[in-house]
Amino acid sequence: EAKNQGKNRYSVYTSDLLEGAKDEYRLETDLRKAVEQEEFVLHYQPQINPRTGKIIGVEALIRWQHPTLGLLPPDKFIKLAEDNGLINPIGKWVIKEACAQNKRWQDAGYPPLKVSVNLSTQQFLTSDLVTYMENTLEKTGLDSQYLVVEITEYMAMEYEYSLKVLKKLKEIGIGISIDDFGTGYSSLAYLNNFPIDYIKIDKSFVFEIINDQPSAYIVKAIITLAHNLQMQVIAEGVETEEQLDFLINQQCDLVQGFHFSKPLPVDELERSYLNGNPNEKRENTK
Ligand code: C2E
Ligand code: MG
Ligand code: MG
Ligand code: MG
Repeated sequence: EAKNQGKNRYSVYTSDLLEGAKDEYRLETDLRKAVEQEEFVLHYQPQINPRTGKIIGVEALIRWQHPTLGLLPPDKFIKLAEDNGLINPIGKWVIKEACAQNKRWQDAGYPPLKVSVNLSTQQFLTSDLVTYMENTLEKTGLDSQYLVVEITEYMAMEYEYSLKVLKKLKEIGIGISIDDFGTGYSSLAYLNNFPIDYIKIDKSFVFEIINDQPSAYIVKAIITLAHNLQMQVIAEGVETEEQLDFLINQQCDLVQGFHFSKPLPVDELERSYLNGNPNEKRENTK
């Protein structure tokens, strides 16, 4: 009886594994096609000054419009793209699309926003990254002050190389943001060697600031130290009024999270945050 159960369990297990492998293989084939046919879309999440409520920027977050599986979040395909050499073309598409969209908003008369794009490690290590960004800004006509790149602490670990790349991006005028700060092993003292504009506090800390005293202390300390080092602080994953109040009290510069908005498709962002009618909005802000 026990032996039988074991055998059944074993066969269920292997067939699951095979199914998993088949799914992954299919998804990889699909992803190659998706790159050729640009089946991706960017959603944009507002970054807000919590004192004025004004939108200052947006983070571009990729989704894959899969022909049969529907809209897939990055967790479902970014890792796969990294493992299969597809992250570079995808990453380039993201940069191009984010710059072009931001320029379209400006041309339509909306108040200028900064657009942040996430870079993958491999993309950061690619030799033509800086040239590609420079060319893309020129082609799309977007001023470099309206583009920000988000890298993780991990990417800054290769000291000489990272310093070289970040200095070049800085010279062009592109903003630099450290994403998911607090989850890696670097310190602000180390990061201060690089030309960094923004520190994004990881949402795992923000989730805990009300109920967990150590997390609250960590967030307070990050904000104080970052300000002393002339960096601005963005809190990600702000979901509640209580978290927002805490962050306002601690002088956090910008907030991003479901309390304000989830990442939105272009048209919804325009309706909800850019006031739908760009010219009217421009009149109002005069
Ligand atoms: P991230 O860069 O840290 O982006 C923030 C993630 O947190 C987003 O998930 C966003 O939807 C989510 N988020 C924002 N506010 C809240 C909140 O209040 N509560 C909760 N629970 N979540 C919130 P998303 O869009 O699924 O992206 C996941 C990750 O995928 C990103 O984390 C980023 O590392 C990666 N990613 C997204 N777009 C790109 C891209 O174009 N290129 C690369 N290389 N990676 C990307
Ligand atoms: Mg990010
Ligand atoms: Mg993050
Ligand atoms: Mg991240």
